[in-house]
Formats: sequence, structure tokens, C-alpha cells
Amino acid sequence: MDHLFELPTEYEDLRASVRALAENEIAPFAHDVDEQARFPEEAHKALQKAGLAASHVPTEFGGDGADSLAVTIIIEEVARVCGSSSLIPAVNKLGSLPLILAGTAEQKERWLRPLAQGKGFSYCLSESQAGSDASALSTKALQVGDGWVLNGSKKWISNAGFSDFYTVLASNDSSKGAKGITAFIVEKSDEGVSFGAHEKKMGFRGSPTREVYFDNVKLSDDRRIGEIGAGFTIAMNTLDHTRVTIAAQALGLAQGALDVASKYAHERHQFGKPIFDFQGIQFMLADMAMNIAAARQLTYAAAAKSERNAGDLRFFSAAGKCFASDTAMKVTTDAIQILGGYGYVSDYPVERMMRDAKLTQIYEGTNQIQRIVMARNLP
Ligand SMILES: Cc1cc2nc3c(=O)[nH]c(=O)nc-3n(C[C@H](O)[C@H](O)[C@H](O)COP(=O)(O)OP(=O)(O)OC[C@H]3O[C@@H](n4cnc5c(N)ncnc54)[C@H](O)[C@@H]3O)c2cc1C
Repeated sequence: MDHLFELPTEYEDLRASVRALAENEIAPFAHDVDEQARFPEEAHKALQKAGLAASHVPTEFGGDGADSLAVTIIIEEVARVCGSSSLIPAVNKLGSLPLILAGTAEQKERWLRPLAQGKGFSYCLSESQAGSDASALSTKALQVGDGWVLNGSKKWISNAGFSDFYTVLASNDSSKGAKGITAFIVEKSDEGVSFGAHEKKMGFRGSPTREVYFDNVKLSDDRRIGEIGAGFTIAMNTLDHTRVTIAAQALGLAQGALDVASKYAHERHQFGKPIFDFQGIQFMLADMAMNIAAARQLTYAAAAKSERNAGDLRFFSAAGKCFASDTAMKVTTDAIQILGGYGYVSDYPVERMMRDAKLTQIYEGTNQIQRIVMARNLP
């Protein structure tokens, strides 16, 4: 029992080193990245140099082979100072996981090695008319000779334009619904691939979100990931693992907001004493810390289940994502309250964290969808 519910030392060491990197090399640019809605180049360089931009890539393909809990801690610590930057490792894992789960050794060698070396990898499931009901997608993959021709468009694609590689889910047989969907790897340089305007977003403004268009994109059959018709299953299995990374992101945003609010409460004086001395403020901070602690336990449990592909992963990853993101929304909002007027302006990072937190309740499946997933997979 001695170390039950304590992380093994190597994870705490990892946290300490990522925290130092995040505070020194990412946090100083977070405000500008958000204000100018620009890609966090500094963070990308720092993460890449430290082997943290795509640390999940197995060692045999040039990565660090970081396990799910390690990736969770990396994303959490980066999100604690900059949500947009935390999307670099998160999107790279999301985009490449279909390949890791269902690709051949040759395919992994071809796309995972460059990913480990600094290329980006995005995930293209959502479309303008197919969001929560993702299997209603209408991008078409037509089998022509030995290969495929892709036509259609994807909406809301994170890091679109920055990423070199894209996992694209397309319908090869619309009469079969979800069973007529196949996964492909598309490269940015493929003829017929183009990108829409940058979405003007409330938060995560440093991560480009754009439409991706496919106009007669010709793909050889070695671009197909997994069996014909297995794409939707691969896409959903991917989300079971990567929802944990969104939980991690939410957790980091919440922790970042609590840290700022707690420090501020000790420094800010009103009525002749620190506002921390008022019980009303103490109760808010206590509730914030309590919910973050609960979210962390659930998220780490989900990460461990992701690592061993446990039978109840689907419930736990949905629960972790839902609970952590609802917690992040509440905690970041309360952090603003604790800072009063100063929380409402961008001199402090809590309003950015609140805007970022909102997205974690929406993407990789809204929290309504997470509750449906949980209900269908009750433990
Ligand atoms: C910034 C950003 C980045 C994104 N990045 C990516 C990405 O990289 N790749 C990608 O593929 N997608 C991405 N997405 C898409 C995201 O996953 C979808 O926005 C999300 O799944 C919801 O789809 P929707 O926006 O079409 O909402 P809708 O599905 O239209 O939902 C609208 C509302 O109806 C509710 N609703 C829908 N169905 C039900 C139901 N059955 N029961 C109860 N309520 C329901 C929803 O919860 C929501 O509140 C991103 C989105 C954003 C905003």
C-alpha cells in the first residue's frame, strides 16, 4: 500500500522537467500567441528539441515511445501555461494514432519517423454536416484501378496547413454507412489538397483551425490504413485513447488557473488583509483544488487504461474528458472571479484559460456525446 495512488518517480521527474521547459520556453510567448492568433513556433521548437512534440512515437520509428501517462503529463504541463502549445503533442498523437493502431510496418516507417523528426500530423474526421454524427460524413473515396481518388472537404481541422500529414476518413461505399468508411493518409503536398481560411476562434487561437479540401486527390493503395470499411472503427478506437489527451489539456488549464488565482489571493489586499483571508475566497479555492484532484485521478486512471487497452477504456476516457473539461470550465471561470476586474482583462492569463477551457467541452466529441458514450458503456 505504501505507494498506492502515488506516481512512480520517473513520472514526477518528467513532470518537473516539462514544467521547467514550459515555464521558461513556452509561457513567455503564450500571451502573444493568443493575442496575435499565431502558431506557437517557439513552443514547437522547444518541444521538438526536447523530444516532446510527438513523444508517443515508438522507439523503433525514431520516437521516445512515451506511454499514455507520460504523454498525459506532458500535455497537462504544457496546457498549464499555454493551451495552444499543448495542441502540438495532442494533435500529433490524434493524427497518427490510426496509423499506429492499424498501419503496416512499412506505413509506420514512412510516416512516423518524419513525425518524430518534427513534421505535424492532423486528424480529419469532422465535416460541415457531420459533427457529432461523424459517420454521416460525405467525403468520397472512389476506387480507381489500383488506387483511390478522394473528393470532399473536412471542417475544423486542428493544425491544418501546419501539419504535413493527415489521416482522412472517407466514404468508399455510402450504402454501408459507418461500415463503408475507410481511413487514408494524405500529405499536404499531394496534388488537389488545399486549405480554407483560418477560423477566428474564442480560444486556442494559436492553433490553426481550417477546412481541408480534397479535389480529385489521387492516392495509391498504400495510403489506405487498415481494411476497406474499417475506417470508422479505427477512428472511434483512436478517440478512446486520445480523449485522455483532451482530459490532460483541461486538467492543465484548470491547474494553471488555480495556481494564478491562489497566488493572487495571497497578494491582493482589500479591507486591510489579503483576500485569501476571506472564507468566501477560501471555499472557492478549496472547491477548485478538490475538483482538479478528482479530475487528475480519473484522467490518470484513463491514461493507464489506454496504455493497457483495458476493456473499460471507452467509459473511462469519455468520463475523464467530460469531467476534466467541465472542471476546467468551472475552475477557470472561478479563477476570474477571484481576480475580480483584473481577471476579466488579458493582463492575467485566466481569461485566456477560460476561453481555451470552453473548447475542451466541445471537441473530440462534445460532453453530451461523452455522456452518451458513458451510458452505453456503463461499468
Ligand atoms: C477548434 C476546433 C478544433 C477541432 N479540431 C478537430 C480536428 O482536428 N479534427 C476533427 O475531425 N474535428 C475537429 N473538431 C470538430 C469537433 O470534434 C466537433 O465540432 C464536435 O464533434 C461537435 O460537432 P459539431 O460542431 O458539428 O456540433 P453538432 O454535432 O452539430 O452538435 C451541436 C449540439 O448538439 C448536441 N448534440 C448533437 N447530437 C446530440 C445527441 N445525440 N444527444 C445530445 N446532444 C447532441 C451537441 O452536444 C452540441 O451541443 C474541432 C472543432 C473545433 C471547434
